[in-house]
Amino acid sequence: MIVLENINKTYHNGAPLHVLKGIDLEIEKGELVSIMGASGSGKSTLLNILGILDDYDTGEYFLNGRLIKHLSETQAAAARNNMIGYIFQSFNLINYKNAVENVALPLYYQGVSRRKRNAEALEYLDRLGLRDWAHHMPNEMSGGQKQRVGIARALASNPKVLLCDEATSALDPQTTKSILHLLQDINKKMNLTIVLITHQM
Ligand code: ADP
Ligand code: MG
Repeated sequence: MIVLENINKTYHNGAPLHVLKGIDLEIEKGELVSIMGASGSGKSTLLNILGILDDYDTGEYFLNGRLIKHLSETQAAAARNNMIGYIFQSFNLINYKNAVENVALPLYYQGVSRRKRNAEALEYLDRLGLRDWAHHMPNEMSGGQKQRVGIARALASNPKVLLCDEATSALDPQTTKSILHLLQDINKKMNLTIVLITHQM
């Protein structure tokens, strides 16, 4: 599903910082892979490249057999929309939209009709145990609930790969455990490829 060959990435704001030095990585469809490492070691940089949120300098990145390199903004957005679900540490929910509207957003960008996307969003919320919270705003929910909305939103676009950047770092240990179990469950039941950055061994 994911193949990286000799990926290099240097940041050039100020003194050049060579963050990724010849990374090779292969991840099969249906694998659940976690990336661990010290703060500042380049985990987010790597995940952002996998998620087509950022470009790399040299090497090759194949996603589901397709070379992801030098894409235009439009091509990158389309590839992200079709392939990638992203879950963020800080949830990145839209505060003035309720849970179901947040989850439905990727479907809006895929051109799905309002009626259909709301029905699908509700179904994902239901699967994550949040049906009763569908019409609540993010500021009315706990961290764990917000992250489950974030997971529902990532799943709603029917991605090939789910990427999680410290998705549980803002949560207490109990909630962290339940979210990690949820991701394991999604990996098994949906045979979805998941790459997650975590500090939880
Ligand atoms: P991690 O996620 O493992 O903590 P990052 O990938 O965020 O690490 O960062 C790796 C290194 O690159 C850090 O030293 C960070 O300061 C630097 N860095 C990250 N993003 C940028 C950027 N946009 N511009 C310049 N330096 C950056
Ligand atoms: Mg990081």
